[in-house]
Amino acid sequence: MYFLQKGFFSISLTFMPIFTGMNQFCQNCNKPISDNYCAHCGQRAIANQRLSWKEIFSDFADNVLNLDKGFFFTFWKLLVSPGKVGRNFLRGERKKYTSPIRYLIIAVAIQAFIDYWLLEAGPNENPDFFYFPFLSAEMNSKMAIMNHLIATKYAFAHNLSMIIIFPAIFYVIFRRLHYRYIELLTVNFYYFSSGLMIVLILLFFSWLIGFDFPIPAIIFSTIAYVFWSSFHFFKDIHWAKRVGYILLSLVLFMLMRVFLLTYFISIFVPIENIQ
Ligand SMILES: [Zn+2]
Repeated sequence: MYFLQKGFFSISLTFMPIFTGMNQFCQNCNKPISDNYCAHCGQRAIANQRLSWKEIFSDFADNVLNLDKGFFFTFWKLLVSPGKVGRNFLRGERKKYTSPIRYLIIAVAIQAFIDYWLLEAGPNENPDFFYFPFLSAEMNSKMAIMNHLIATKYAFAHNLSMIIIFPAIFYVIFRRLHYRYIELLTVNFYYFSSGLMIVLILLFFSWLIGFDFPIPAIIFSTIAYVFWSSFHFFKDIHWAKRVGYILLSLVLFMLMRVFLLTYFISIFVPIENIQ
């Protein structure tokens, strides 16, 4: 009788995972699992079941829509209190936000999608650019064409260079705050992607109502967001000084982007090779 009871008990224990649809051992790392997540590797307990639409959907909802740490939550927080998100993340409050690299990848993917469906990068329109009086007219026109090519045909490489250059400038200008370059770079993944999202939303709505959004307005909204996010992020510096530092950073950035980058590419790359 005792053995029968024991036997029955162990049989029901053996079949329990099937009844509850859950395994006692994590399928990813083989450690016992007792909660919604594996305490050892962090895999979700639901992942122990066979792949189903429910699992895929809940994974998608978790990563993108989840109000706690999803993309839209992170985007919203980066709009209303960008500095807080950046500082919290660097301080270790990370789980509640979409990770910066994933955030960047989602934003770039949305950009690629919208580029593909809505926008024809117009390489035919007349390149309009700054005129540098200390350079020859030939050099000026070459730089104008090159600048246009960078911004349209090589938009991805262009975006990538901006992601790297901006934090380098902040690193030098705000060195007294002792941020590491990698910290400013990581935070910039958030800010850059949010700037991108703002532009995409503007473009999308102007496309919806059939309104041609002027390029200077796009540039202005990007710069406004850079200003807004860095003004919030570097809050340990007196506000008047901070405004000066940010403006200086923007000038340095424009110098690098509009002049140095375009100038050196124009010198070293013949236009025939690029078109
Ligand atoms: Zn595990």
